[in-house]
Amino acid sequence: MVDGLVIRSSSIHAAGCYTTRAIRKGKRVCEYDGPRFSKDEADERYKDRDITYLFSCGDDGTVIDGFGIAMFINHSCDPNCESENVDGRVYVVAIRNIAAGEELTYEYNLHDSDDQDQNCYCGAKKCRGTMFSEDEVKRRARKARAAAKALKR
Ligand SMILES: [Zn+2]
Repeated sequence: MVDGLVIRSSSIHAAGCYTTRAIRKGKRVCEYDGPRFSKDEADERYKDRDITYLFSCGDDGTVIDGFGIAMFINHSCDPNCESENVDGRVYVVAIRNIAAGEELTYEYNLHDSDDQDQNCYCGAKKCRGTMFSEDEVKRRARKARAAAKALKR
């Protein structure tokens, strides 16, 4: 893990996580850690809240309720980190060399099926305009087409 991570205001979204030291590609930056729940428990717990820091890990539907510095890392469509699942733990790993002072970002690849849009304003040249994963974007497009068809009838 890396020392020298700080929280500062971010141009992407409210607050972000920045490194005060250079980080080499491939280095584990921090762990996305916190209490673990099942997806159903998390939905129940957070049904009235718009903002959550839940991170699904593994295929068994466990989510991590982010606690600590990793929850401040913003999404970007042109990120410098990615999340890595290892035996039920989630690490944020540098996918390129990162200079001191840069904001850390990774792709959220959201695939939650609640119907809110998750628009992206990361400002990257190749911004996809959404924080959903590509599979989720396709799934939603299929759903929208099906809904449009149903309306025509
Ligand atoms: Zn974006």
